[in-house]
Amino acid sequence: MKAVGCVRQIDKLGRLVIPSYIRKSLDLEKGIDFVEFFTDGDSIIIKKYRPACVFCKSDEKLTTFKEQMICETCLEELKKDGISLSSAED
Ligand SMILES: [Zn+2]
Repeated sequence: MKAVGCVRQIDKLGRLVIPSYIRKSLDLEKGIDFVEFFTDGDSIIIKKYRPACVFCKSDEKLTTFKEQMICETCLEELKKDGISLSSAED
């Protein structure tokens, strides 16, 4: 992780502006792209959000299954192998 030499104040509504040079360097377009937040101790990490398969992290041929992103390959594997889940009631 490298410091980019920039300090910003969080406004009264809790918003934070990502400086334009950082948006440009990460190809983040206003009104189009999303970012995802992570925390690590006392650090906040903001990453460009890229939808990915919940199982293999692929970003190709994605679809939604039970509100999770899944790729076509993993979905086919699930269909082929079937899903065996034991419930807590057993
Ligand atoms: Zn996958």
